[in-house]
Amino acid sequence: MQRVYTDSDPLIVGHLAEVLRGRGIVCMVRNYYLGGGVGDLPPTEVWPQLWVERDEDEAVARRLIDEVLSNHDSDGPAWVCPGCGERVEGQFAACWRCGSPAP
Ligand SMILES: [Zn+2]
Repeated sequence: MQRVYTDSDPLIVGHLAEVLRGRGIVCMVRNYYLGGGVGDLPPTEVWPQLWVERDEDEAVARRLIDEVLSNHDSDGPAWVCPGCGERVEGQFAACWRCGSPAP
């Protein structure tokens, strides 16, 4: 088990868990229903935490989390061209190979 993310907002942690599960990564959220008034624990210890079951998934999980959290930037995630199947970096609005627009 590896903790890959923690945040005060359970909605963000829950969303990330759904993204990881969608990629086949077994994960769980701890402290989802806690929060506030939990004795003398430091606040970050009672925040919702995202854990991955298999240690070998940690690196992939962290990269996916980075991608999700950086989606607000102008550079979106890479996409697959619907015209020719080429993988295109997120900053391009059209396929560099066949010119199809991003989906
Ligand atoms: Zn293309």
